[in-house]
Amino acid sequence: MFSNITDTKISKKIVEIVSGNKNLSIGGGSFCVIAGPCSIENELQFSSTANFVTKNGAQLLRGGVWKPRTSHKSFQGLGSVALELVKKITTETNQGIVSEVMDPRDIEELYPYVSLFQVGSRNMHNYSLLKELAQQDKPVLLKRGFASFVDEWIKSAEYIEQGGKASVILCERGIRTFETVTRNTLDLNSVAFIKHKTHYPIIVDPSHGVGVSLLVPDLALAAAALGADGIMVEVHPNPKEALSDGPQALTFPQFEILMTKINRIIEIVGQK
Ligand code: PEP
Ligand code: MN
Repeated sequence: MFSNITDTKISKKIVEIVSGNKNLSIGGGSFCVIAGPCSIENELQFSSTANFVTKNGAQLLRGGVWKPRTSHKSFQGLGSVALELVKKITTETNQGIVSEVMDPRDIEELYPYVSLFQVGSRNMHNYSLLKELAQQDKPVLLKRGFASFVDEWIKSAEYIEQGGKASVILCERGIRTFETVTRNTLDLNSVAFIKHKTHYPIIVDPSHGVGVSLLVPDLALAAAALGADGIMVEVHPNPKEALSDGPQALTFPQFEILMTKINRIIEIVGQK
C-alpha cells in the first residue's frame, strides 16, 4: 500500500559490468547511456549505429538478436547469425552489448557475446527463464512487464537473485494504460520508487516508454533529472527503413543533440 512508503533509506547495490575495455558501475552515481538499434539488421546498419553512438558517449551498446514480435509475420531478428556481427562490432568499437534472451535454451549461446542479458517486457513473468538466468553469473537487465505491478517486477528480480550469482538492474519501459496517444505510458513514479525504496539500479527506456521518436528525448531528459541510473535508447541510421520499432528510433542527429543535453542535466543532479 502506498501509505506504507516511509523515508527509511535503503542502500543501493552497485552492479559492475564489463563493457569492452571499461568497467561500468551501474547504480554508483554515474549515469549510463545504452544505445543502439532495436534489432541488428545487417552489418552496415549495426556498425554505423554502434560507431556513432560510441563516438557520442554511449557506454554500452544495445541490439536485438532474437526479437519478441507481436505478429509471427514481423521480422523475428537475425537470430544466431547476428552473433558474428555482435562479436565483430563490439570488438571494433571496444564496447559491450546488452541483448535480449527469450528462450532459456539460448542463454548458453548468447553468454559469450553479451555484457548484460536483457529480459524483455513480455518475459518478465517467464519464471523458467528467470530461474535459468539465476544459474549464471552475468548481470541481467530486467524490463518491467507492460501490465505488471512494481511489486511483481521486484519479485521477478528476486527469482534471478536467489541463485546468488547474477545481479539485477531494473528497466522501466512503460506500461499499458487507458491512454492511446502514445505507445505506452512511461511510469516515472516507478523509477522514483525503485530509486528510493529498493536496492536495484534503475535504467529508463524512453523509446518503448513513449514509442514516438519526437517525444523520446524529452522523456530521456526527465529520467536523467529524476536521478535514474541511466537510459537505454533505440537509434537507427534510417528509421523509416527499420525492420522493427522505426517510429521510436532516434536518428543520429537526434541522438547527438540528446547527449549534449543529458550531459548538462546529469551535472545538475550531481551524477558523473
Ligand atoms: C526491446 O528492447 O527491443 C524490446 C523488445 O523491449 P520490450 O521488451 O520492453 O518491449
Ligand atoms: Mn524495440
